[in-house]
Amino acid sequence: MSELEDKIAQARQEIEKASNIVVLTGAGISAESGVPTFRGQEGLWQNFRPEELATPDAFWNDPKLVWEWYDWRRNAVKDAKPNPGHYALAELESSVPHLTLVTQNIDGLHQMAGSTNITEMHGNIWQIRCTKCGEIEQNFQVPLPELPPKCKKCGELGRPNVVWFGEMIGMDLIDKILRAIEECQVMLIIGTSGIVEPAASMGLVAKQTNKTVIEINLDETPSAGLYDIVIREKSGEVLPVLFTSNPNRVLS
Ligand code: NAD
Ligand code: ZN
Repeated sequence: MSELEDKIAQARQEIEKASNIVVLTGAGISAESGVPTFRGQEGLWQNFRPEELATPDAFWNDPKLVWEWYDWRRNAVKDAKPNPGHYALAELESSVPHLTLVTQNIDGLHQMAGSTNITEMHGNIWQIRCTKCGEIEQNFQVPLPELPPKCKKCGELGRPNVVWFGEMIGMDLIDKILRAIEECQVMLIIGTSGIVEPAASMGLVAKQTNKTVIEINLDETPSAGLYDIVIREKSGEVLPVLFTSNPNRVLS
């Protein structure tokens, strides 16, 4: 058995034994759907780094520029379809008594693939939130007719309903995720660079409470050494193999 087959067999065993699983996904799971990640070269937009644009300061300094970037990102996501990794997770949800899918992605592809118990940590790119009255508008227009967009209710400036660098994620949401980790037996961490907090620490929380942690990521990540099983493959290729009912299916 190759090292990869061995890891896959171990991971399958852990997943099959578990009745409660937490899955944490990041931009990597959507990479094979053509959605740019943040860290790769393709994540750069007009030579700005996301850290320079996805902040409240950048927005208040130049709302139009930040909206131009979101308009570009919305366009990059618009025609994206879920890939076999998204579908495999939706299938896993239907075969495990409890599965909580926590995503840092704002692209909506997990919903499209059929997952239902989803916690979106960083909001959703298809929503515009009023900076004054807080009204949230679902909006799928690409490109947006006016940048920056205005609130339909009060006419004030709208912003993407996403969590920016330097902004807090609601404590109730964090609590809910930590409780899910506490109650699970296995945590899967897929396609996330493990750099952006608080998601970056969630695998550590799972390890501190003796859960089995399985990571699937193309590249090295800072906490990989602490995890039980680390698979360095594309999520769209490995997830269908991990969850299939045919144990003889292996990666080509
Ligand atoms: P990231 O871009 O920092 O990291 C992506 C990770 O995925 C990297 O470690 C990379 O090695 C890995 N990867 C790339 N292709 C892969 C594949 N095919 N299979 C498995 N792994 C693969 O993204 P992040 O960790 O999610 O964190 C940063 C922030 O980026 C989050 O706040 C998120 O909201 C935002 N973001 C979201 C999207 C999206 O919604 N699709 C896209 C870009 C960034
Ligand atoms: Zn308003």
